[in-house]
Amino acid sequence: MLKIKCPFCGVRDESEFSCGGEAHIARPTTDLKLTDKIFSEYLFMKYNPKGVFLERWCHTSGCRRWFNLARDTVSHEIIEIYPMGVFPKTVKGKKAYQANWRRKSKYEAVSKPAKRTKK
Ligand SMILES: [Zn+2]
Repeated sequence: MLKIKCPFCGVRDESEFSCGGEAHIARPTTDLKLTDKIFSEYLFMKYNPKGVFLERWCHTSGCRRWFNLARDTVSHEIIEIYPMGVFPKTVKGKKAYQANWRRKSKYEAVSKPAKRTKK
């Protein structure tokens, strides 16, 4: 079982969390360049690397807040935990972000990346 450090509550057992799947998936816009093929890429094509993977997690049995996590899928080592709306800061996290096939996909080219709003 993983021990995950919730950025808001501290270290807890994995059973208190829910994995929300891949992080940093840009939502396609309603731009005219968006085709069925491009939208199906967004909807159905998943990334499943052997190595560092960037995931979204929610502390469902705790504070119910979302955060991103960089995890090695082979060793289950948690490399980095970082807030939603920002990019990974570690070298491994940055490499995992760039290695994802989505960075070169047609749908991401017509998508608007999520931006962190300042309060
Ligand atoms: Zn929490």
